[in-house]
Amino acid sequence: MQLKLYNTLTRTKEVFQPLDQTRVRMYVCGPTVYDFAHIGNARPLIEFDVLYRLLRHLYGPDRVKYVRNVTDVDDKINARAAERGVAIRELTEETYNNFKEDAAALGCLPPAVEPRATEHIEEMKTLIERLVAAGNAYVADDHVLFDVASMPDYGKLARRSLDEMLAGARVEVAPYKRDAMDFVLWKPSKPGEPAWPSPCGIAAPGRPGWHIECSAMSWKHLGETFDIHGGGIDLVFPHHENEIAQTRCAFHSPVMADFWMHNGFLQVEGAKMAKSEGNFVTIRELLADWPGEVLRLNMLRTHYRQPIDWTMAGVLESQKVLDHWYDIVADTPMPIGVDADDEVVGSLCDDLNTPSALTRLHALAGEIRSCASGLHQLELKNKLKASAGFLGLLEFTKGKALEHHPHRRVVDADKVNALIDARNAARKAKSFKEADRIREELHALGIELEDHKDGTTTWKVKR
Ligand SMILES: [Zn+2]
Repeated sequence: MQLKLYNTLTRTKEVFQPLDQTRVRMYVCGPTVYDFAHIGNARPLIEFDVLYRLLRHLYGPDRVKYVRNVTDVDDKINARAAERGVAIRELTEETYNNFKEDAAALGCLPPAVEPRATEHIEEMKTLIERLVAAGNAYVADDHVLFDVASMPDYGKLARRSLDEMLAGARVEVAPYKRDAMDFVLWKPSKPGEPAWPSPCGIAAPGRPGWHIECSAMSWKHLGETFDIHGGGIDLVFPHHENEIAQTRCAFHSPVMADFWMHNGFLQVEGAKMAKSEGNFVTIRELLADWPGEVLRLNMLRTHYRQPIDWTMAGVLESQKVLDHWYDIVADTPMPIGVDADDEVVGSLCDDLNTPSALTRLHALAGEIRSCASGLHQLELKNKLKASAGFLGLLEFTKGKALEHHPHRRVVDADKVNALIDARNAARKAKSFKEADRIREELHALGIELEDHKDGTTTWKVKR
């Protein structure tokens, strides 16, 4: 089956061919480990896991190398460790372990390598020295900066004008920069910050900038050029643009990765997620209320490139769908030697069209319900289970799924959806008494609502 992927570099859907026919190499920017990951972070986790599973299916599990880095040196980490009065290593270790648990609960396969920035300082220094030697970077005031003007096609990925890029950089121009666009490869450490011996003969100890990490770790684990580089759309500029600049100039190569893939933004209840909005939600909080598969399915119902609005109504609907499918396959053990449905695989080969793959699962569930022959029904059930499993869903038996999530409250999705709709209608009609009554009814069902000034409502399942 032919795999087509949308490439941000060319803004078109292209047929995917690995550079080396015997292996596929994929790098995805991973977490900065200072706090629990939020639901927005779950999006690239889940979407690139689907791609990883698909690539393993198409090329063989041993022929796909997936690398996802861990940023364990960063200002936010230093600040949080100081705030909590713990050692930096303790904070990053704890946060990274939490992240791995969250990823596993969301049904994500572990990448082949999860390299840490602090374990690749030598590689970063090697790259930085190469860039200085090649005339693409310069030393100024104990910093090393990338000289953007030295790269004629800088900005090719983001396709922004120079003015936009200048505005996008949003940094006050430090006096040591030759040009406002130049970005930091290495900087001196302040007292108390993690520090390493500096490259390029700089006497003061220092630490790397963020962008150089990914160039160093992808080089170490995947080589100078590789197949797929992924991340959230917010990383296109400046992070990915700068990764490309560093890697291409260090290796004099025409591309860093052949395919650049980006997942769309995530909003919560119609608004940008922010602590000040009251709609900030971590994966961990959601996992306390819902099985990971419900969250995974809810993410996959939107195509990865589209913006997604994460809503309570959506999560409830996803739970309903999953419960229904679990009911259908309840007596079916995990089938062995049954392939996923061709249409499901075909949909995923069309730029990871998960909504279309899920439509096919719904159709299979419908066929099972209306099927009269027991034998054919079993075949269809096996097909549904194998196909859902391909997407990382229906991987438990129903009892096991509940056991796996002891905190799970069973919510009557239909009832809650209907009540939320009725409450919205009552509020619109200014029947506030009725709206309050419905709020109380939801409360009794274990659903807590919080209304915000801007008219949006967020929700929680009461613990
Ligand atoms: Zn990166």
